[in-house]
Amino acid sequence: MKLVFATHNPGKLKEVQEIAGNRFELLSLDNIGFTEDIPEPWPTLEENALEKARTVNRRFGVNCFAEDTGLEIDALNGEPGVLTARYAGEHKSPDDNINLVLAKLQQANSRRARFRTVFALVLNGNEYLFEGIVNGNITLHRQGHGGFGYDPVFMPDGYTLTFAQLPAEVKNQISHRGKAMQQLISFLQQLE
Ligand code: IMP
Repeated sequence: MKLVFATHNPGKLKEVQEIAGNRFELLSLDNIGFTEDIPEPWPTLEENALEKARTVNRRFGVNCFAEDTGLEIDALNGEPGVLTARYAGEHKSPDDNINLVLAKLQQANSRRARFRTVFALVLNGNEYLFEGIVNGNITLHRQGHGGFGYDPVFMPDGYTLTFAQLPAEVKNQISHRGKAMQQLISFLQQLE
């Protein structure tokens, strides 16, 4: 089965392809000649993921899935949520995003947070959503240099290390994206 993954990120495509195995031929946006960035204007991860999958499906007539991920912090009423990538502003860095979160949590009683990934799949005219969640806490300071984004300040439940300190294989097994991906791939495999 041929499927488009609505991403420009070759690392993400490789990650999903490794889990999916060779029963699915995955193509990225660049593989099908779609060079634009698809906007994510909606207030929920679900709507943004669906928007991306629908856009590609409409323009290219192909089966497609797309992803959106957010960090949801209880004490900030679920922020940064859909703003996760650009919390400190459109052109700010991951470092600025972390600084803003740490500053906002200075007086907070709770540091509970979760990463949530949603995959939206448009397949033969039907739409499906899959979700993966990892719960944890925002640390007081940065710990570790691995990973990306908010990894240095996210400590998943059951561990005393942040995502930036855990080996990538461990992170991928317990992460929001890993779990959501497993759901999507199990669904695709039972269709065959
Ligand atoms: P995306 O929807 O996968 O592009 O993720 C949106 C934003 O969430 C990224 O720009 C990162 O800031 C953050 N993010 C997503 N996944 C992770 C993760 O595994 N660790 C740390 N930050 C993440």
